[in-house]
Amino acid sequence: MSGLGFETRQVHAGAIVDAEAGARVTPIYQSAGYVFDSFDDGVERFAGRSARRAYSRNDNPTNVVAARRIADLEGGVDGVLVASGQAAIAMALSALAQAGDHILTTDRLYEGTREMIRGALRRQGLEFEALPIDADEDAWVAAVRPSTRAIYAESIANPLGEVVDLALLGRVSARTGVPLVVDNTVATPYLCRPVEHGAAVVIHSTSKWLGGHGSVIGGAIVDGGGFDWTAAAARFPHLHEPRPHGAPSFAERFGAAAYSAYLRSVVVLEHGPTVPPSSTFLLLHGIETLSLRMERHVANAVAVADALQDHPAVARVHYPGRADGQAERVARLLPDGAGSIVSIDLAGGRDAARTFLDGLRLVSQMTHIGDVRTLAIHTGSTIHGKLDDAERAGLGITEGLVRISVGIELVDDIVADLEQALDAVLAAGERTATRRSAAAQLEAVHP
Ligand SMILES: *Cc1c(COP(=O)(O)O)cnc(C)c1O
Repeated sequence: MSGLGFETRQVHAGAIVDAEAGARVTPIYQSAGYVFDSFDDGVERFAGRSARRAYSRNDNPTNVVAARRIADLEGGVDGVLVASGQAAIAMALSALAQAGDHILTTDRLYEGTREMIRGALRRQGLEFEALPIDADEDAWVAAVRPSTRAIYAESIANPLGEVVDLALLGRVSARTGVPLVVDNTVATPYLCRPVEHGAAVVIHSTSKWLGGHGSVIGGAIVDGGGFDWTAAAARFPHLHEPRPHGAPSFAERFGAAAYSAYLRSVVVLEHGPTVPPSSTFLLLHGIETLSLRMERHVANAVAVADALQDHPAVARVHYPGRADGQAERVARLLPDGAGSIVSIDLAGGRDAARTFLDGLRLVSQMTHIGDVRTLAIHTGSTIHGKLDDAERAGLGITEGLVRISVGIELVDDIVADLEQALDAVLAAGERTATRRSAAAQLEAVHP
């Protein structure tokens, strides 16, 4: 829906009015399959020569509306909806790489992605190599091999909020002919559109801000439409091979949208990570208010970061743009705000984190982000709990780190709850200090 504003497109893009009843809201098409008109119609649908659908595993009308809406908001040409953000990452990479291939990433990634890289994807024979998030353009270009199939990054890294220079990675992609794949979950298309910086593929966990209400799990993959798959034919022969029965290759038939066509009609069809259309119904309702929620999420997050900055129990606040050397990049890439994850480093380490989290009344302790509710978690003992101390230290995950996903409640109420729990940390610290000094005095009296 070119020419219309983001706020309009988040409500209307991709929407259909159902032919039977004229329902204005996109219905839940809760049907496994779709009736053929005739024997020959079935043949045509299976051969992909008919625009009409056959089966909901990869082609459900409710899911198609949401996929097209997210693709529109991202400035891409097409999208595919899947069952979770993890499935989106797995499918997006499966459509690019096979055993023996190489993928470059930044060294700051969501831990679920790192787990998949270390686990399932490595067992399938993919090789991963991480470059520092601040590596320069020549370092990225030099790291590209003939077997490199993707450069993978997050627009805002979870949980510490480091921001990679997407414009730089876009230039690396253009120079090397390797597609840039960006997980844009934490920024959302309202705050950042990686396609504008040269990304070929954009991934979302729709479970987070897109859905926004913490009610559904889902994922999306957007085809940016700007990558030249023909020039990169040597890296992606599967997009250029003739199809069964002499049908043209994906590149010939779909051109700029060859990637999403292959993803939908081969990779997702074969693996089957289908999201229920009932979940997508809730996702669509979430997307309709994305801009409104993001404005509030960002304003609340900035206020929380400011308020906690000076609390004596807090050693450091992590919010994009506040780390050394990142301010210019964040202002350039995220002019409308840098998301709503605020992580705090408690000076008192793990014990302080326990007291803080157990002292929260309004804020929920749980593993999720992008909810209208404010949520908090000690990542070192949960999300990053399988890592050893050295690995955690290397990722900047300290003993006192608490990730806060700031919600859309009244900010004064959020800050008040966080502050009363931080005050409890100080009080507990004083109690411990008093006990220690009493013990020391006893020790001095009765050595
Ligand atoms: C949560 C998350 C995922 C995984 O999404 P699920 O929907 O939980 O499978 C991927 N990337 C990022 C950045 C996330 O925050």
